[in-house]
Formats: sequence, C-alpha cells, structure tokens
Amino acid sequence: MRHKGILIVVSGFSGAGKGTLMKKLLETYDNYALSVSMTTRSPREGESDGVEYFFSTKEVFEKEIESGGLIEYARYCDHYYGTPKAYVEEQLLLGKDVILEIEIQGALKIKNRFPEALLLFVTPPSIAELERRLTSRGTETKEVIKKRLLRAAEEAQGIDAYDFLVINDDLERCVQEIHEIVTASRNAPFRNTEFMNHIKEELEALSKGEN
Ligand code: 5GP
Repeated sequence: MRHKGILIVVSGFSGAGKGTLMKKLLETYDNYALSVSMTTRSPREGESDGVEYFFSTKEVFEKEIESGGLIEYARYCDHYYGTPKAYVEEQLLLGKDVILEIEIQGALKIKNRFPEALLLFVTPPSIAELERRLTSRGTETKEVIKKRLLRAAEEAQGIDAYDFLVINDDLERCVQEIHEIVTASRNAPFRNTEFMNHIKEELEALSKGEN
C-alpha cells in the first residue's frame, strides 16, 4: 500500500542547530524532502537564492500571501517567513516525508490546518550552549543575537504544543533519533486508516460468515 508522506514540522530556538541536523538527515535517508521557505530577510554570507531560502521583497511576499501561494507564514524578528504550498503538496503526494523548518507561530498554524502533522522541537542541551552557538556563528550582530534570545524565551512557552522534543547534543545521535521518531509515527492508527478499515471489514465479514 502506498502511503502519503508525513508532514513534519521542525522548530527550535535560533542557534539550536536545526539547519545542520536537517542537512545530515537528508544526506542519510532518502525518504525526506525539505521545503525551501520564502523570506524577506537578507541572505547571510554563503546563502544563495533558492537553496536556503527564496529571498524576496516585502511587496512580492505580500502578493504571495494574497494569492494563497503559502500554506503558512509568520513574522519573525522584523521579517516575513513563509512556506510555499506547491512543493509541499507535490512531495507529499509522491510519498516523501516533507520537512518544514519553521518557527513556532507557523508550526501552530500548520497543526491547526493539518492536525496529522508531526511537530518536533529541537533544543540545544543548555542555554549557555545556545548563546555560544549564536555568537560563534559570527553572522549576526549583538543586537540581532539579543533579539533572537528574547524570541527563544517566548518560544519556550509554546513547546507543549509539539509532539516530541529532541535534544541536540550529538549530531549523529540526534539525526538517528529524529528518523526513529518519524518511522514510529508512521504506525499511528490515524495514519493508517485505509489499512485499519480493511482489517475491520474483513473481521466483520468473517464473524458474519461464522454466525
Ligand atoms: P533564520 O533567519 O535564522 O534563517 O530563521 C529564523 C526563524 O524563521 C527560524 O526559527 C526558522 O525556522 C524560521 N522560518 C524559516 N522559514 C520559515 C517559514 O517558512 N515559516 C515560518 N513560520 N518560519 C520560518
């Protein structure tokens, strides 16, 4: 039986290491597809259009909202971020497990719209480590880092809405853990309704035949 893929949301504080984790996950396993978001923030050094993000102006982004081209969007630290709809739908139909690496407001919108989505929250082992990672990245000003830490404090309040917490202490172990969570989640009864209905029908037919 062919399964439609799982829609997976991965959130986590800025600096939690989501990007590196997702890269490794995609290199290691072939069942995943990573959605590339649209944003109005400027590219960081080394980032290119269409790879990390589709970089856009506020005007273009707002047009995309109006035309219904995004399945969710949010404002984060003075910029828009959103998930283009077409790629996600296409990959899910192909049976891929589609990953949205998005912040919490967007994650909650996805949960509302697609209750069957799987929500994972990635956190570093400690806040000292988070601060160290944000600073050593060297791509953000002190001001921006402060904003991102404040935002992390807000996001921490919403973790209960997620299905699983993943502590990013060791890259390999963490990637394996995420894959195990996804694999186990495939077996949730609500993700297998067609199969379960078939089993129920057969049992019913069998018990009728025996009466
Ligand atoms: P960054 O600027 O560090 O690349 O991303 C800032 C935050 O925006 C991260 O928490 C990231 O997960 C989130 N983000 C990236 N793309 C999207 C998106 O399409 N929608 C939403 N809601 N958040 C996003």
